Amino acid sequence: MPFDATSAPLTDGFGRTVSYLRLSVTDRCDLRCTYCMAEKMIFLPKRDVLTLEELARLSDLFIRHGVRKLRLTGGEPLVRRDVMDLFRDLSRHLSNGALDELTLTTNGTLLARHAETLAACGVRRVNVSLDTLDPERYRAITRLGDISRVLSGIAAAQDAGLKVKLNAVASRGAFEGELDTLIRFAHERGMDLTLIEEMPLGETGQDRSRTALPLSDLQRDLAERWTLTPHRHATGGPARFMQVRETGGLLGFIQPMSCNFCALCNRVRLSCTGRLYTCMGDEGSVDLRAPLRHSEAAALEAIRRAIAAKPERHRFDAARMDSPAIARHMSTLGG
Ligand code: SAM
Ligand code: SF4
Repeated sequence: MPFDATSAPLTDGFGRTVSYLRLSVTDRCDLRCTYCMAEKMIFLPKRDVLTLEELARLSDLFIRHGVRKLRLTGGEPLVRRDVMDLFRDLSRHLSNGALDELTLTTNGTLLARHAETLAACGVRRVNVSLDTLDPERYRAITRLGDISRVLSGIAAAQDAGLKVKLNAVASRGAFEGELDTLIRFAHERGMDLTLIEEMPLGETGQDRSRTALPLSDLQRDLAERWTLTPHRHATGGPARFMQVRETGGLLGFIQPMSCNFCALCNRVRLSCTGRLYTCMGDEGSVDLRAPLRHSEAAALEAIRRAIAAKPERHRFDAARMDSPAIARHMSTLGG
């Protein structure tokens, strides 16, 4: 049978096949986390953002070519008013078996409102970002947030049957003192907790060399109080998991700065303006909006060319945290 280039999987120049798409549906957010955004952010004009139909068409295209996992992110995905229509539309790929997982990463502030609809759309798991349980520190980190909304969002998600995983960005100082409480909070409620090393993305008005905490240091410190055993929980992603014997729960470590996970990378990211980023730690991106407006064949051609050129590894340098390695903010691509 002749080789059909149109249905071939999306494979890069290093033999890695892309099966995971992270789709940013908005650059906007109701919070301004200090490691992610500047205090005064200028958001994109709405006309620059892909329509719901364009987001759905691009998702369909990726799914037809081997993407099995789709994560909606932002900015904050739940601040986009019509996002539930997108979830409803995408859920048909779960029903027909084309997609293994439809999920989202959220700050949780609007989760209470949407948890049941998400569950009805076939979402099974959700990642909620929460770095502290202290209301004042939460407000200081997020510059705007009210922690009670996140806590009710988490409870509503669990009541709706969603499995919740917490994500926390590690930082020097108070975070280290509070981490034991966060671990207990998560594990007592059946949630895994993943710690993320701060990445030098975008100008935030803060000197990251003062806040960034290498997870290797943190793990050494945790091992003095907790019994951590390596665990084979595989998400296909960059997290390495340890089981905490005292709680039975899992603790994930995402170490882009101090540990190179690029060899196993199976993911690409699409911004809400339709730019495809094949590596978070690289400035390069390719526009898909103009080709999509021409034809799906043109969009597929652009996707294939971009993936073929996916960089072998990211360009972060742990010794250079004082200035952004990449000018774009984390909120452009949503992690
Ligand atoms: N607004 C949603 C949220 O906060 O979960 C989704 C988008 S947010 C950009 C995705 C994840 O990136 C969050 O877990 C957040 O903590 C993390 N993040 C933001 N800026 C970061 C940075 N500079 N380094 C590492 N992680 C970061
Ligand atoms: Fe918003 Fe998420 Fe960035 Fe915080 S980390 S500012 S919640 S996009």
